[in-house]
Amino acid sequence: MLKFVDQGQSYPSKRAPELRAEDFQEIADKYAPNAAAEQSARCSQCGVPYCSVHCPLHNHIPDWLKLTAEGRLREAYEMSNLTSTMPEICGRICPQDRLCEGNCVIEFSGHGAVTIGAVEKYITDTAWEEGWVEPLQPGAPRGQSVGIIGAGPAGLTAAEYLRVAGYDVHIYDRHDRAGGLLTYGIPGFKLEKHVIMRRVQRLKDGGIIFHENFEVGKDATLGDLQDRHDALLVATGVYQARDIKMPGVGAPGVEEALDFLIASNRKSFGDDVPDFDNGRYNAKGKNVVVIGGGDTAMDCVRTSVRQGARSVKCLYRRDRANMPGSPNEVRNAEEEGVEFVWLSAPKAVEGTSHATAVKAHKMRLGAPDASGRRSPEVQPDSEFTIEADLVIKALGFDAEKLPTLFDCPDLSVTRWGTLRVDHKSMMTNLNGVFAAGDIVRGASLVVWGIRDGRDVTEHMHRYLRAKKLAAKAAA
Ligand SMILES: Cc1cc2nc3c(=O)[nH]c(=O)nc-3n(C[C@H](O)[C@H](O)[C@H](O)COP(=O)(O)OP(=O)(O)OC[C@H]3O[C@@H](n4cnc5c(N)ncnc54)[C@H](O)[C@@H]3O)c2cc1C
Ligand code: SF4
Repeated sequence: MLKFVDQGQSYPSKRAPELRAEDFQEIADKYAPNAAAEQSARCSQCGVPYCSVHCPLHNHIPDWLKLTAEGRLREAYEMSNLTSTMPEICGRICPQDRLCEGNCVIEFSGHGAVTIGAVEKYITDTAWEEGWVEPLQPGAPRGQSVGIIGAGPAGLTAAEYLRVAGYDVHIYDRHDRAGGLLTYGIPGFKLEKHVIMRRVQRLKDGGIIFHENFEVGKDATLGDLQDRHDALLVATGVYQARDIKMPGVGAPGVEEALDFLIASNRKSFGDDVPDFDNGRYNAKGKNVVVIGGGDTAMDCVRTSVRQGARSVKCLYRRDRANMPGSPNEVRNAEEEGVEFVWLSAPKAVEGTSHATAVKAHKMRLGAPDASGRRSPEVQPDSEFTIEADLVIKALGFDAEKLPTLFDCPDLSVTRWGTLRVDHKSMMTNLNGVFAAGDIVRGASLVVWGIRDGRDVTEHMHRYLRAKKLAAKAAA
């Protein structure tokens, strides 16, 4: 069996014999400058930049590609930095096939898209290495303070822009580290932890005050924070894991995807994680079955492979064409040895004191539902069993019940539990309380969180200026 070695762990792979992550890194480092210039030169400067239109940040992609092709890397970085607070992060983890690269005219002509994400990552990684990334410069103090709940991409982006505009900015997060799902959701093999932490450190150095291990709802109510600040931003993401009802689902060995990923991410920070060390969240030597077909499921299967699982299977009730996960991620997982069991849904988890197997049945796609998607239905007499001593539920996330959690029953939510905002002002029904990111959109993407963080800053700025003027007039 071919082996791939990553972070000291080796696992079977269809990719190549005994390749190591360091080898890839060395090769990448050597060829990256040429590859970036070469790829950038492939941009036809078509004049109808579908790539920019389909990038949620409307990054000036053709412009920074041109600068990169001409070797003017610092200017390329400065241009890409104009529209994004985290270009090197988006370059790594945006589903480019659905966004910028999927809409490149060269892709339309059948010649393969310019690798925009890779160039974007290269430009800003180089900027960090060369010291071109400037410290955050706070604007002239305005004497007003903003509280942000949630230090994910939406909260961090708003914090940066509001600090630059001269506000005192406080971020509250219930985790011990900032970054939200960048830090504790997305695995390090897709997004290295130091890449997030250097961004966070830059914000701390710029005078943004981080209140870590601070859970709104436990350590303060929303009302307490309204009293402390002139405006609030809620950017708490969505964390209520969707569940599945079936016999055996409560058995030891059946785990939530995010708990599994958090444990793995904590280990990569060097934290003490007893539930990893005692095997609960460690896939090593196990037969793993992941239930679900989204990107979280893909992260779980690929993490399991890296932890040295004996076998990894992904059970999904629709087929490949109807899978919500990125096709690139599915391809990566398959190359690493993950087996996809399409058109299959779990029926029960077997095992008395611990999970031993998943009983499933085959599905077929029936008539389209109201959304136009063909709904899966059970095929009669199609039951089968898969051996499993670790079953990971990756069925997606809904919003937590924020009005209850925040002790604020007046806070208005949609029928999905996400925060209801006035889309013209991004303000909730509570005066001076804004919202952005997944808690408004439902589970989405990092790049949309950044976009919302950027947009909400404008609205908050306008609100705060008006508030100051009103206070002056009343004085
Ligand atoms: C496993 C996984 C993998 C993903 N992979 C990708 C990917 O590859 N590419 C991509 O673009 N997107 C990916 N996503 C989606 C992406 O991570 C999210 O869309 C994005 O992080 C949302 O940003 P946010 O700022 O709205 O919320 P989050 O990143 O969720 O941050 C919210 C923050 O609020 C904090 N918080 C919540 N409640 C409270 C409270 N009561 N008090 C204090 N703090 C609180 C949380 O601790 C968290 O730090 C992935 C998601 C998951 C779950
Ligand atoms: S932010 Fe994402 S969509 Fe936009 S250019 Fe970068 S990789 Fe593409």
